[in-house]
Amino acid sequence: MLNRRNFIVRSVLTGLGFSLAPGSLRAFSLNPGLTVRTNGPVVVSTWRHGLQANEAAWEILGQDGNALDAVEAGVRVCEADPENLSVGYGGLPDRDGHVTLDACIMDEKGNAGSVCFLENIRHPVSVARLIMENTPHVMLAGGGALQFAVSNGFTEENLLTDKARKIWEAWRSEEKYKPVPNIENHDTIGMLALDANGNLSGACTTSGMAFKMHGRVGDSPIIGAGLFVDNEVGAAVATGQGELMMKTLGSFLVVEMMRGGMDPVDACQVAVKRIVDKVKDLENAQVGYLALDKQGRMGSFSLRKGFDYAIQNAQGKRLIDSAHYVSG
Ligand code: ASP
Repeated sequence: MLNRRNFIVRSVLTGLGFSLAPGSLRAFSLNPGLTVRTNGPVVVSTWRHGLQANEAAWEILGQDGNALDAVEAGVRVCEADPENLSVGYGGLPDRDGHVTLDACIMDEKGNAGSVCFLENIRHPVSVARLIMENTPHVMLAGGGALQFAVSNGFTEENLLTDKARKIWEAWRSEEKYKPVPNIENHDTIGMLALDANGNLSGACTTSGMAFKMHGRVGDSPIIGAGLFVDNEVGAAVATGQGELMMKTLGSFLVVEMMRGGMDPVDACQVAVKRIVDKVKDLENAQVGYLALDKQGRMGSFSLRKGFDYAIQNAQGKRLIDSAHYVSG
């Protein structure tokens, strides 16, 4: 476990005077947030599945490898895991039974690559990296993305596992065949890393909201919504109901708040507050932002209780509960 003496933990979130639109959420409470500070290379990623993903990233970062290689290797762990129902192979399908994937990646130079509505490719993050590095474009979608991937040596395969298919079939028989966005049926892996040279990179990959409409794309492949990296300032990644981050360009907002001097937790809280202010129906919604700045400070903020993030550095690894607005 991380040696707590290596962290400076600071309480924040006092006196900011936030309020919620009437009726949009039942309860309101501010809990103390924690900004965590580390020295040297570090990787952070969303949710508990980040613990395992971070280990793969740390194999690179811990040997002075670069942040870009680390985040790609890290999130590939979740993409390949058939037990993970929200990312890559084994992800829950859309309402028509198709597993469709969104992913993006950004490096320390501000380069970005992205892929959306991609089917039959296990590692969309690596396709996104190839788009970033080998094409003049940022984003490829659907059939074009698949064509690009296959022509670059990626193998097509069926990503719908028996387990995911059975869950989908049960949902289809019970739920009158419509997508149900709620706080349970999504969980992107978003990962941010700071390497030994002080460079930042980030990656984000997901099968998106379970049982979504066919063709639906979420925030995860949208640069500035699901992920943003500015090597002068910091990086941010999002998870949760993508439509909310897309309407507010939240990851970009978090980085801009940090550019203005905010620490990561405060910056993430501003982006959640923007959603609360601008989007009125937040019943059943969850969003979470995770940020890492150039100085190695990190933190998160979510709309509801339940979001956590994983951190790993030379001192070890740890799962941290996010600060949040509401406990229900
Ligand atoms: N943000 C993702 C999406 O809306 C899902 C998630 O993070 O759980 O597609």
